[in-house]
Amino acid sequence: MNFGLTSDQQAMVHHVRTLLDDVCSMEYAARCDETRTPPREAFNAIARNGWLGLIAPEDYGGAGGTPTDLALLLEETGNHFEELGLWLFRSFTFGCYAILKHGTEEQKQRIVPGTVKGELSFAFALTEPDSGSDAAALRTRAVLDGDHFVVNGRKQFTSGMDISDYVLLACRTNDLGKKQLGISTLLVDTRLPGIEVRKILTLGQNAIGTTEVTYTNVRVPRSALLGELDHGWNVCEDTLRYERLCLSAARIGAARRAFDFALDYAKTRHQFGKPIGSFQVTQHKFADMKVMLDTSQTMVRRYAWLMENNQAERADAAVLKYYVAESYKTISDICLQILGGYGYCMEYPMQRFFRDSRLATIGGGTSEVQKNIIAGTLGL
Ligand SMILES: Cc1cc2nc3c(=O)[nH]c(=O)nc-3n(C[C@H](O)[C@H](O)[C@H](O)COP(=O)(O)OP(=O)(O)OC[C@H]3O[C@@H](n4cnc5c(N)ncnc54)[C@H](O)[C@@H]3O)c2cc1C
Repeated sequence: MNFGLTSDQQAMVHHVRTLLDDVCSMEYAARCDETRTPPREAFNAIARNGWLGLIAPEDYGGAGGTPTDLALLLEETGNHFEELGLWLFRSFTFGCYAILKHGTEEQKQRIVPGTVKGELSFAFALTEPDSGSDAAALRTRAVLDGDHFVVNGRKQFTSGMDISDYVLLACRTNDLGKKQLGISTLLVDTRLPGIEVRKILTLGQNAIGTTEVTYTNVRVPRSALLGELDHGWNVCEDTLRYERLCLSAARIGAARRAFDFALDYAKTRHQFGKPIGSFQVTQHKFADMKVMLDTSQTMVRRYAWLMENNQAERADAAVLKYYVAESYKTISDICLQILGGYGYCMEYPMQRFFRDSRLATIGGGTSEVQKNIIAGTLGL
């Protein structure tokens, strides 16, 4: 396993950093958060420069990049604005990866080129009011009626639904005893009649945010089925593993931005006649955070390498997601403390990292669930 970046990867990181320095400053991110506005200008700039095509094969308008390339791109994006990284991750995961891996040729031709150009955005709807961690217990139902599925049910926490063209919807199409069986995944046009979206106000992730979505007799064409009928749980699990790479990469970038901000502050803020960074207790906080950042980054690169070599297991994704999420949460908390009262002020950026990072250990599978997955492999 090689930790060095190729010249192409170095050029990509440099280009994306320069681009985002220009279109996605800290002030821009703060404004999007404050006004609950999606970072569309930055998303469009990434698309215009071709980066949304990073992982798609050339036949679909992409560059055929690797999971490591993707992790580097998302780390850089998360370093500028985590929510931009999360928007891009949905394009890569649901608009490219899931369709390329599980879709028909017709679906690939119809959707992937639009994703690559940034013309389409995506959401993922697994969670329901009564099934969160126990996701396979979902009850939203899709019943076949001729050439259509008729969908009824309610999804909780569908992030980005209101800015998406398609939602990858997990629903029950059959009762086959085991709850993981009889689930299907449909790529649903978000503008179909019978879909009702309600915004949910949250502690963080304000720019794009999340929603509750009700489906009432929504007629979805049969061609929307992604993967095999009744075997959609495999699509969900596979997609969640890919998601864990993307989210972890974006969150390392965000954690590093919080760290760098606090480091500058600790060098310039004076108390008792000296910089607060000269107190050993502060220095040890930075040392602890540096270890967490380096370990997180190594774990992302390792997981990307495992993916590239078809060796990534479910527990590897859980180890990655658990460690990086907990580290990001801890780092943003420590950084807020280093800024003292200013860390607690809305006019300083640290509160946004503190609020946004709080989702890391909850969304996409809680830390407790990741630990269950890890422990489940240990033969206890
Ligand atoms: C802002 C936001 C955005 C989100 N975006 C999306 C999205 O786009 N798409 C989507 O499908 N979902 C999304 N989610 C849902 C998210 O994945 C769930 O919130 C998460 O999986 C937990 O489910 P829950 O909230 O129902 O909590 P619950 O499952 O009710 O869990 C409550 C608590 O019990 C613990 N717990 C539950 N079961 C166990 C167990 N077996 N062992 C130990 N502890 C356990 C949990 O760890 C947690 O601490 C989002 C959530 C939020 C808040």
